[in-house]
Amino acid sequence: MPEFRLYNSLTRSVEPFAPADGAKVTLYTCGPTVYNPAHLGNFRTFLFEDLLRRALHMRGWSVEQVMNLTDVDDKIIKRAAERSISITELTDPVCETFHADREFLRIQRAEHYPRATAFIPEMIDLVKRLEANGTAYKADDGSVYFAIDKFEGYGRLSRLDTREIRAGARVAQDDYAKENAQDFALWKAAKPEDEACGAVWDSPWGRGRPGWHLECSAMAMAILGETIDIHAGGVDLVFPHHEDEIAQSEAATGKPFARFWCHGEFLLTDGAKMAKRVGNVSTVADLRAEGVSAAALRHFVFSTHYRKQLNLSGAALEASTEAVRRIGDFSDRLSREKAGSAQLAEAADTLLIEATTALSDDLNAPRALGALFDFIHAANRAFDATGTDTSALARARNVFRQVNAVLDVVPDRGTDDSVLASWVDQQLADRAAARARRDFAAADQVRKALEEKGIAIEDSPTGTRWKKVR
Ligand code: AMP
Ligand code: ZN
Repeated sequence: MPEFRLYNSLTRSVEPFAPADGAKVTLYTCGPTVYNPAHLGNFRTFLFEDLLRRALHMRGWSVEQVMNLTDVDDKIIKRAAERSISITELTDPVCETFHADREFLRIQRAEHYPRATAFIPEMIDLVKRLEANGTAYKADDGSVYFAIDKFEGYGRLSRLDTREIRAGARVAQDDYAKENAQDFALWKAAKPEDEACGAVWDSPWGRGRPGWHLECSAMAMAILGETIDIHAGGVDLVFPHHEDEIAQSEAATGKPFARFWCHGEFLLTDGAKMAKRVGNVSTVADLRAEGVSAAALRHFVFSTHYRKQLNLSGAALEASTEAVRRIGDFSDRLSREKAGSAQLAEAADTLLIEATTALSDDLNAPRALGALFDFIHAANRAFDATGTDTSALARARNVFRQVNAVLDVVPDRGTDDSVLASWVDQQLADRAAARARRDFAAADQVRKALEEKGIAIEDSPTGTRWKKVR
């Protein structure tokens, strides 16, 4: 097998990767801030991490993955205060939606989903360690800050120009720009709005709550140890989140916090980063309402390398829906056929080599998908020519299963079809309503929308029937 290589943001280069202990990869992935259902931009990052996890499995390593759920931070407190509810009342239902959406997209379950509020003692201990060695100090606003000029490596991950570092100046909010690289809050003194929504804990520095960056360091080290193999997230986390995580963790332990830092690029809509504050988000619920399957979204996301920006569009999702339909048809044929030929076995061998090579080369999923389509083409030709070799067929099935175990792009006859069916039912109800109010133009529009998705409809005295024609 080719060497497994990953781009490491720390060194700005693609490097050979293997777990430190040779067998198990410890992987920390920054999870969602649970004040709103995660959007497809967040899920692009989680899908990149799912690809990473599955590619590591493909290489025969086991994976222990942590994905935290940030259930206390500035944004959550603000939202809870607006609604006059507790942070738990706000975050509990969002955590449930997250898991339902994750399962829909077939993102494998991580081993741990720690909630920040369950790790407050570990966070306090970390701040105590930093205070004891002089890298943390309590300021006159009652909060505890990290002194960035006391940590030599500060700014290494995000290539911060050291002239920009303003020691002594302090930034209290969780998220801030690079121009504001200042001492950041580890532990924030309680404000009345924190008390009101239950975001407060006792600490040696008085009542307060953790800063966002501290949460990840404490949870990662408590569960995975002081040096982890891979830490991943979206590119927007490089600064300040990951820079600050490194500072707090390494200043406390004197050991490297993560050996590899891996970052996925943004999902865009109309050229702008998909973000809640921009207001251009779509969610898994929207996707389901449009009848787009998990397989299609996975195909869409994996068709672009994770370190390139990707624009969400209806046309691209349509193309992916069509692509996975071909994959699904082929998968059916593979189950139906009774034997293969030497050409089939050869095509399978090629697929295995090319897909493993591509996925081992900094997770080149677009190339792996290309190899999969080449295989489907060659295998269909081999089947058309008929054969009698049952071991060739077994080989083809086995390789197809192995590659799909990483990409997971075969439409599911159960879930995916039922998503489509409920979308069609909704369209038919809209069409019936339009006809009832004699709005035939609207009814025709619905029929066109259905045709575009390959659905033919037929009216009969007992109601409207539909079928998939392509
Ligand atoms: P958040 O819930 O904002 O903490 O984000 C959760 C994850 O989604 C982080 O890894 C972010 O970097 C990532 N993320 C946020 N917006 C996008 C986007 N538009 N495209 C890709 N990843 C994103
Ligand atoms: Zn984090």
